[in-house]
Amino acid sequence: MRHINKDFDNTIARDQLESQEYKNDVLNSVLLRNGNYSSARYGHKIVRDELRDIYFDKCAYCESKIKPVSTPHIEHFRPKKKITGINNSGYYWLGYEWSNLLLACPSCNGIKSTKFPVNNENHITDHPIDANGDIDYTKFDHRNGYHRYERALIINPEYWKPEKLISLSYNGELIPIKNNKLAITTIEKIDLNRHDLLIERTKVIDNIIQRIEEQLFRRFEDNLDDNAFQNQLNIIFKDIIIRIGQEAEYTLVGRNMIEKFDELILEDIEPEFQEEIFDYFVEFLRGH
Ligand SMILES: [Zn+2]
Repeated sequence: MRHINKDFDNTIARDQLESQEYKNDVLNSVLLRNGNYSSARYGHKIVRDELRDIYFDKCAYCESKIKPVSTPHIEHFRPKKKITGINNSGYYWLGYEWSNLLLACPSCNGIKSTKFPVNNENHITDHPIDANGDIDYTKFDHRNGYHRYERALIINPEYWKPEKLISLSYNGELIPIKNNKLAITTIEKIDLNRHDLLIERTKVIDNIIQRIEEQLFRRFEDNLDDNAFQNQLNIIFKDIIIRIGQEAEYTLVGRNMIEKFDELILEDIEPEFQEEIFDYFVEFLRGH
């Protein structure tokens, strides 16, 4: 996961989501309290394209690239129909609310489903109709108090900085920093340490280790001088930096390879070369 910069006032998305036909759907759902929304509407190309831009085509939760062949799912952060474990109709008024729409891969979307644990035990269940019988749209935007009231226990990457809450172990597992409850619940409820994700994350780490080892071997075989060896390492180190860019998959891996270079990378390198490689890495980072 990584923090996502979203313009909550995005006029392109809001113009679409708040147009008259959409408002009619919202009114129906609010009156019936059923959260039946048209996926063709909240998943309209205009809305989806805005989200794809903001998310660089990656899942809000697992940060996998959503492959060109599969359509990204539009995820309702606050479930629109039902909340697991609670006898209610979910956030039936938030089906088209821009601040409630995230981009997710089909797996995370399916696993999260209607789960929405909160710290305060009380979910907002206010029926958003004002004294005149009109819909009270001021209650829709999450900036208007949802967060403080509920304290959701799922990380919303548009609101939180996941990088400060989650770190990574050498085997690709996400680890809550300082046992942070929000991180623990998010990892558990969306199953963010599922097998296929561990494999993808360790591939990134293994690729770096393997390439460093190749260069160690080449130095020996081809008699690379120190300069040439260092240049080859710098190419690999540059790829670690690319791994934290907004467009890269699994940027938590890149971030942790830098912060915990000794634990994630060096420990797999032959001990006699560890210090040398570490020095080259530190020198490389100084130049960045
Ligand atoms: Zn995902």
